[in-house]
Amino acid sequence: MASGNELALYGFVSLVAVLFVLMTGPLGLVAIPFVLIVAGFAKMSAESDAESAGPVNCSGCGAPNEPGAEVCQYCDETL
Ligand SMILES: [Zn+2]
Repeated sequence: MASGNELALYGFVSLVAVLFVLMTGPLGLVAIPFVLIVAGFAKMSAESDAESAGPVNCSGCGAPNEPGAEVCQYCDETL
Protein backbone atom coordinates (compact mmCIF):
# COMPACT_ATOMS: atom_id res chain seq x y z
CA MET A 1 0.00 0.00 0.00
CA ALA A 2 1.61 3.24 -1.15
CA SER A 3 1.39 6.15 1.27
CA GLY A 4 0.45 9.68 0.23
CA ASN A 5 4.10 10.68 0.36
CA GLU A 6 5.06 7.86 -2.01
CA LEU A 7 2.26 8.71 -4.46
CA ALA A 8 3.35 12.35 -4.49
CA LEU A 9 6.97 11.28 -4.99
CA TYR A 10 6.04 8.96 -7.88
CA GLY A 11 4.03 11.78 -9.44
CA PHE A 12 6.95 14.17 -9.12
CA VAL A 13 9.41 11.61 -10.53
CA SER A 14 7.06 10.88 -13.44
CA LEU A 15 6.76 14.60 -14.18
CA VAL A 16 10.54 15.02 -14.14
CA ALA A 17 10.91 11.94 -16.37
CA VAL A 18 8.40 13.27 -18.92
CA LEU A 19 10.08 16.70 -19.01
CA PHE A 20 13.47 14.98 -19.32
CA VAL A 21 12.29 12.94 -22.33
CA LEU A 22 10.74 16.02 -23.92
CA MET A 23 14.08 17.82 -23.64
CA THR A 24 16.43 14.97 -24.55
CA GLY A 25 14.38 12.93 -27.04
CA PRO A 26 14.77 9.14 -27.53
CA LEU A 27 18.10 9.05 -25.68
CA GLY A 28 16.26 10.11 -22.53
CA LEU A 29 13.92 7.11 -22.89
CA VAL A 30 16.96 4.82 -22.83
CA ALA A 31 18.53 6.65 -19.89
CA ILE A 32 15.48 6.45 -17.58
CA PRO A 33 15.29 2.63 -17.15
CA PHE A 34 19.07 2.58 -16.82
CA VAL A 35 18.94 5.15 -13.99
CA LEU A 36 16.06 3.26 -12.31
CA ILE A 37 18.00 -0.03 -12.45
CA VAL A 38 21.10 1.59 -10.93
CA ALA A 39 18.97 3.29 -8.24
CA GLY A 40 17.23 -0.03 -7.53
CA PHE A 41 20.52 -1.85 -7.03
CA ALA A 42 21.81 0.97 -4.80
CA LYS A 43 18.64 0.76 -2.67
CA MET A 44 18.85 -3.05 -2.42
CA SER A 45 22.46 -2.81 -1.31
CA ALA A 46 21.57 -0.17 1.32
CA GLU A 47 18.71 -2.34 2.61
CA SER A 48 20.90 -5.44 2.91
CA ASP A 49 23.40 -3.36 4.89
CA ALA A 50 20.63 -2.35 7.31
CA GLU A 51 19.59 -6.00 7.74
CA SER A 52 23.14 -7.03 8.56
CA ALA A 53 23.13 -4.66 11.60
CA GLY A 54 22.25 -7.40 14.04
CA PRO A 55 22.59 -7.62 17.80
CA VAL A 56 25.71 -6.11 19.37
CA ASN A 57 27.61 -8.57 21.52
CA CYS A 58 28.71 -7.21 24.90
CA SER A 59 32.48 -7.03 25.35
CA GLY A 60 32.04 -7.78 29.06
CA CYS A 61 29.70 -10.79 29.18
CA GLY A 62 29.22 -11.59 25.48
CA ALA A 63 25.43 -11.28 25.64
CA PRO A 64 23.61 -9.98 22.54
CA ASN A 65 22.16 -6.48 22.92
CA GLU A 66 19.80 -4.43 20.77
CA PRO A 67 21.56 -2.65 17.85
CA GLY A 68 22.21 0.95 18.92
CA ALA A 69 22.24 0.15 22.64
CA GLU A 70 24.93 2.04 24.54
CA VAL A 71 25.06 -0.10 27.69
CA CYS A 72 24.72 -3.88 28.10
CA GLN A 73 21.28 -4.77 29.43
CA TYR A 74 22.74 -7.67 31.42
CA CYS A 75 25.94 -6.34 33.04
CA ASP A 76 25.84 -2.55 32.38
CA GLU A 77 29.16 -2.71 30.47
CA THR A 78 29.55 0.13 27.95
CA LEU A 79 29.15 -1.29 24.45
ZN1 LIG B 1 27.28 -7.54 29.24
